[in-house]
Amino acid sequence: MANRLRPEIIITGAGASGLWMGYHLINHGFKGKILFIDQNLYSRKGKNWSFWAKEDEEISKFASFSWDTLLFETPKVYKEFPIAPLKYFTVRSSSFEGFMLHFLKESGQTEFVEDEIIEVLGNGTAICKNNTYQAEEFILSSIYDLEHIQKEARSFLWQHFYGRVIEFDQPVFKENVMGFMNFEIPQTHGIDFIYTLPFSDRMALVEYTIFSKDLLEFDEYAKAWDQYIKKTFKSEYWVLEEEFGKIPMTDFRFPYRKEKILYIGTAGGHVRGATGYGFKNMYHETQNLALKIISGKVPNQPFQSKTRHDFYDSVFLKVLKTHPNPYEIFESMFTKRNPKDVLKFLGKEGSLLDDLKIISACPPIPFIKALFGK
Ligand SMILES: Cc1cc2nc3c(=O)[nH]c(=O)nc-3n(C[C@H](O)[C@H](O)[C@H](O)COP(=O)(O)OP(=O)(O)OC[C@H]3O[C@@H](n4cnc5c(N)ncnc54)[C@H](O)[C@@H]3O)c2cc1C
Repeated sequence: MANRLRPEIIITGAGASGLWMGYHLINHGFKGKILFIDQNLYSRKGKNWSFWAKEDEEISKFASFSWDTLLFETPKVYKEFPIAPLKYFTVRSSSFEGFMLHFLKESGQTEFVEDEIIEVLGNGTAICKNNTYQAEEFILSSIYDLEHIQKEARSFLWQHFYGRVIEFDQPVFKENVMGFMNFEIPQTHGIDFIYTLPFSDRMALVEYTIFSKDLLEFDEYAKAWDQYIKKTFKSEYWVLEEEFGKIPMTDFRFPYRKEKILYIGTAGGHVRGATGYGFKNMYHETQNLALKIISGKVPNQPFQSKTRHDFYDSVFLKVLKTHPNPYEIFESMFTKRNPKDVLKFLGKEGSLLDDLKIISACPPIPFIKALFGK
């Protein structure tokens, strides 16, 4: 089929990174036309994206909920830690998408097409099931080939989770305390922990999270989740929402650019290999890219530049795969160091010296073995 239009920019995938990308381009004064292509624009399942930030950072205005204290638990440790001046924020995807779609449509520069992308070519063509589109300048692509990543990566783990938003008939949660990692559950499937976001003293998103090589059968997630809830809470509750997610945790070397294609989001390596956090990083990375596009200074490099954080992630992933009790690594970090510094480390916001302080809190033998490939 013939091209319908020739926009300056095509954004393939109108998910978190695609929408951030469009937002920053328009916000920073890009004047061209932008075409979004996504296979699912109108019947999306809700997600919750969380991150930590200072309240005055722009990204925090997109959040629906925030907490000033995090809780870290293992069989040996119960540690509530205030994180001021940071807060832990959660963005509900429905309200984020609602804001973004309104903002982007209002600009008069955007068009949205629902279609399945078959292939994106370096010359700026997006070949879709129902049509073919051509970008004048760039295709910003958040579409990736999972099989290729799994084949090429030296380390690959899934972070997979099953959660439900539940409401109890009486107060059971501390409203200001977000359950960051609770390892006080059987380590049955890999590295298993519970993540709890209280939306009120009765309502929360409770997620059963696993880091492991393989995914589970779907009903096993619900079973593990039920067991935790039954053991922990004695009150009646109602299920309001359900969420399932899987995030690649990998040291795969993600591409940056192939001719007219610029990679964003998970496809561009914006999700941190060792943690699965990426939402806030996508905000910054897409903003940097928008400024480069507008100023005509996009580097012609094929891969994302390697940083010391990529090196840490690669070693850390190996340790997680091989250590008999990997949660002890997190336990060492959170008990021997100031948890706020651990967040800085996990968010790539510390100096080299800060990083070394956190790394030196971890048991050395597994890291030495991982470094020498054992
Ligand atoms: C359930 C869930 C919860 C997460 N929670 C957090 C969190 O709390 N904090 C955090 O930092 N990170 C989180 N992440 C990790 C990461 O931030 C998200 O996955 C984020 O959505 C990734 O953004 P993205 O743009 O790369 O991909 P997506 O947001 O998944 O967007 C990709 C878009 O491309 C479309 N698409 C895919 N293939 C095609 C195709 N062939 N044709 C057309 N369209 C296509 C999809 O419909 C989708 O809209 C979470 C991930 C998941 C899955």
